[in-house]
Amino acid sequence: MAKYRTKRDFKITSEPEGLAPKDAPKESLIFVVQKHQSSHLHYDFRLEWRGVLLSWAVPKGPSLDPSIKRLAMAVEDHPVEYAKFEGIIPEDQYGGGTVMVWDQGTWEPETDIESGLRNGELKFSLHGKKLRGSWVLVRTRRGPGKMERASWLLIKHRDRYASTSDVVTDKPRSVVSRRLMAGIAAAAGGNIKKAAESDPQR
Ligand code: MN
Repeated sequence: MAKYRTKRDFKITSEPEGLAPKDAPKESLIFVVQKHQSSHLHYDFRLEWRGVLLSWAVPKGPSLDPSIKRLAMAVEDHPVEYAKFEGIIPEDQYGGGTVMVWDQGTWEPETDIESGLRNGELKFSLHGKKLRGSWVLVRTRRGPGKMERASWLLIKHRDRYASTSDVVTDKPRSVVSRRLMAGIAAAAGGNIKKAAESDPQR
């Protein structure tokens, strides 16, 4: 979490500071996927684990098609309350741009997560509005740190939620506000034109 905080000036950005990660076990673990238009469009995939959100940046977003593997770059842990963040990050700040809560819900480990993090294979099921069923994250390259900047692949398992439909194109709206990226930027005084570039083009 120190790394998360040093990258940001909380006097300027409205992202949560994450001062009190809680270790108390909860009944269910949350996950969130945040569509983030900064210098490049990506989807931040986050799983709550031990009081933080384990986080990966997925440039193309998740795919429901089990034959498609999506690159997922491990990034720094985020505070759990970050899962609620939708809005804009000021342009001169780290990750400056527009953030949408693209999907959210709960998740369940299918295998031991601590050994999965060590061995580079996490199996889990998602109970979201757009993403459901069984998934795997497989590490293909270690990063310089314990977790950060390692390369992983995010892959859908074959089950009844698998599909060849393109979920990021077919379901572009926020699950909390129903807004598109341009609407989020407009409401928060952000760069509407830039945000709109990541919305479906008419
Ligand atoms: Mn991001």
